[in-house]
Amino acid sequence: MSITINEHRQKITQAKRIVIKIGTSSLLYPNGKINLEAIDELAFVLTDLENQGKEVLLVSSGAIGAGLHKLQLPTRPTSIPEQQAVAAVGQAELMNIYNQRFVTYGQNIAQVLLTRDVIEYPESRQNVVNTLEQLLKMHIIPIVNENDTVAVDELDHETKFGDNDQLSAIVALLVKADVLIMLSDIDGFYDANPNKNPHATLFREVHEINPQLMEVAGGSGSRFGTGGMRSKLEAAQRLMKKHQSMVLARGKHPRIIKKILTGEAIGTLFTEK
Ligand code: GLU
Repeated sequence: MSITINEHRQKITQAKRIVIKIGTSSLLYPNGKINLEAIDELAFVLTDLENQGKEVLLVSSGAIGAGLHKLQLPTRPTSIPEQQAVAAVGQAELMNIYNQRFVTYGQNIAQVLLTRDVIEYPESRQNVVNTLEQLLKMHIIPIVNENDTVAVDELDHETKFGDNDQLSAIVALLVKADVLIMLSDIDGFYDANPNKNPHATLFREVHEINPQLMEVAGGSGSRFGTGGMRSKLEAAQRLMKKHQSMVLARGKHPRIIKKILTGEAIGTLFTEK
């Protein structure tokens, strides 16, 4: 029996365990300064979801961006040790800002920094799962990022997790989340670049990631969305293979998370038929 759009969205309203992914472009203004409004709104929404009895995990980028801001560096340094130093400063700064905001709402948070080798080794992977499960049991919101101070390849965007899109899908798989809500600087997955093509149409639902869709996402000249749409489709594919779902939506106003969880047809829902 084929399920209608509304029934798929209906499933999202039942989600208990939710992973949210937010990228640097939603956390920092284009001038490099911290977007306090977005961070505050995020802390409010995630705490409120926790209060409703949901289990929430946040995968947050922004370490390098916050480090550049803190150290008053105009551009990202080129050498790996310098980038790692900036990430080390920025990750502390980022958690400090998150903590200030979450404390306002009475919510405890925890920092979890991961690297791919940890996830690939079964025993250490299980330890990560145990820690995340324990934090959720204690009603603490884990804030996950790649451990940029040691994950050299991630900074080069070559290997390791690749990027935080992949990391967020991996976290959602590890904790068997009901949904991954990936917040980006685009409303969802379009059939063309909406910044260039006024006729670009948003896919409301995607039930299968096939080579044609990958081509739309990453074909020549059609790379849009900061982390790249292809990477978002790859993250969705990882989840759909394990019968899990993902919603891709614009993250400028994190209150959108609430609307998504009430079943509103926002963004693109990636889910099995
Ligand atoms: N881990 C990086 C940071 O926090 C970002 C990686 C990504 O967004 O893909 O700056």
